Amino acid sequence: MTRKPKPTVSPRYCEAGVCGKPTQGGKPFCPDHLFSNAYARKVFAVNEAVERDAEGAKTKTPEELDVTGVIATEILRTLSQDGQKTIEKIAQDVNYLDSEGAERYAIALERAGLVKVGRTSRGAMTLKLL
Ligand SMILES: [Zn+2]
Repeated sequence: MTRKPKPTVSPRYCEAGVCGKPTQGGKPFCPDHLFSNAYARKVFAVNEAVERDAEGAKTKTPEELDVTGVIATEILRTLSQDGQKTIEKIAQDVNYLDSEGAERYAIALERAGLVKVGRTSRGAMTLKLL
């Protein structure tokens, strides 16, 4: 009886420097060296930037907020997509942002000349792109 040869998956070894540990599932790096992977490093860097921004949204004054950061960019993006929005809606739509943070960003973005702050007839703060 002849057996079909098993399809051979050539084992892959970690490409980080002299590591050389076998990796799982054909990945180029072992778990220890995953961050050698450019994509993983990029994802990690973006997450870090978001976390830094998210922390800033809670603690920084409008003067200190980065209006070119990840959260500010996301606010501007949702405004360009949806038009005028209330602070509450922005806080709902943008990750890591509560309404107080959204209000501080609104002030920062208005000072930067990027948005116009308004009020609804009920007095809720609104934002729209300039
Ligand atoms: Zn490794």
